[in-house]
Amino acid sequence: MLACDTPDAWMQFLDFAKKRCSQAAFENWLAPILLKSLTSDQVTLEVPNIFVKEYLLSNYREDLCAFLPVNKTGEPAIKFQIAPPKPRVPSTESKEKRVSLSSEAKEDQWKRECRLNQQYRFRNFIEGPSNQFLKSAAFGVASRPGTSYNPLFIHGGVGLGKTHILHSIGHYVGEHHRGKRIQCITTEQFINDFVDNLRNKSIAGLKNYYRKEVDVFLMDDIQFLQNRLNFEEELCNTFEALINQNKQIVITSDKPPGQLKLSDRMIARLEWGLVVHVGTPDLETRVAILQHKAEKKGLKISNNILFFIAEHIVDNVRKLEGAINRLSAQCRLMNMPITQELVEETLGELLQQVPQMKVSVDQILKSAATVFEVKLSELKGTGRTKKVALARQVAMYLAKLMIQESLVMIAASFGKTHSTVLHAHNAIEKRLETDSVLRRQIQMCRRQLGA
Ligand code: ADP
Ligand code: MG
Repeated sequence: MLACDTPDAWMQFLDFAKKRCSQAAFENWLAPILLKSLTSDQVTLEVPNIFVKEYLLSNYREDLCAFLPVNKTGEPAIKFQIAPPKPRVPSTESKEKRVSLSSEAKEDQWKRECRLNQQYRFRNFIEGPSNQFLKSAAFGVASRPGTSYNPLFIHGGVGLGKTHILHSIGHYVGEHHRGKRIQCITTEQFINDFVDNLRNKSIAGLKNYYRKEVDVFLMDDIQFLQNRLNFEEELCNTFEALINQNKQIVITSDKPPGQLKLSDRMIARLEWGLVVHVGTPDLETRVAILQHKAEKKGLKISNNILFFIAEHIVDNVRKLEGAINRLSAQCRLMNMPITQELVEETLGELLQQVPQMKVSVDQILKSAATVFEVKLSELKGTGRTKKVALARQVAMYLAKLMIQESLVMIAASFGKTHSTVLHAHNAIEKRLETDSVLRRQIQMCRRQLGA
């Protein structure tokens, strides 16, 4: 962990951030944050509301990692406390205020009210077989809001890009359908708004707002609605009102509608349009995501290392991002090249154990023979044509990676010496740095072997 050993770390972060943003942004977002405590493991911050937390994390995540303690998943180790509520500005007043703003300021205010993360754009979303369908469905909805799938319901595990896609829709609609009013909100915030308005007896205004002043309603993490009976009915009525006016609704969830503990009526509404699942990305997509994130940080990481990280972080894109953040912070501090040793040391427990499969040399040879289109007998024999020699080297490379045996034992199964296997392994590893066709062929072998 990058422990910060000075109590001034937060002040140093603020000094740094001040130089990176406008004075208005600093005054609005960062100045109101109160430092409550700071140890080498954790910092506690009091924020006026959840949006300040979101703003801080989405705009300064990696800088926070560089200045403040970092947790096991490579995220800044910050405990947030929400400050006790202050009287709310009535929504009518804020609307009047909006009218008197310049168009630029309006745009700015719109973006803030919309609560969209600036980084979550379609162009930053890396596609692969696990999320291609989601991306095109989301893009379809963003291009023609209210006219295609309604609601679009997105479900899948943690850290797989649901929120990213939801906000991408918001940005796209904002940029391409200027008149459309977008509301992007977490289910928790929706409930909190309702509670606040119930308290202030202004619930009718809020209901009206959702039903009359929203064209595109983006709701994140609807699983938080479970066991909240009163709000469920309210939300269901809102959904119906919006859909009846052809207003677009997009919802994310960690489960499909049928598995949510919600009323039958609500589940039927959620299933009304298109239900899309987002799965865990395959190895190549994980590598592409790592590459994209590393490039954005100006980090140079070799393909071998990217593959190594992608092979050991398999189930969550947020963790992949955490890995790049940690490496970036480490490199910035130590100014060191990124080697496998550095990766293992820096990422430590973030790297998952790859389950060892029981694969035999014979199976590996068969898969190499199929992929490289050579005869198995040639591969097992002493044939030395270029194609056969390459396929044999790949088989040895895979055997060294996939079989947990000593090199001597593996070499014996090939009828070779251990130095031949080692040589083959190193040769392939080197070639993989530049040869994308070979990378794909090896990926095909792995797939055949069930890896
Ligand atoms: P979820 O809402 O499904 O829990 P998020 O949308 O918050 O996941 O994604 C977690 C992080 O991973 C975000 O920073 C997001 O930008 C990133 N991410 C997820 N999927 C992708 C992807 N396909 N391409 C690029 N970044 C991604
Ligand atoms: Mg999310």
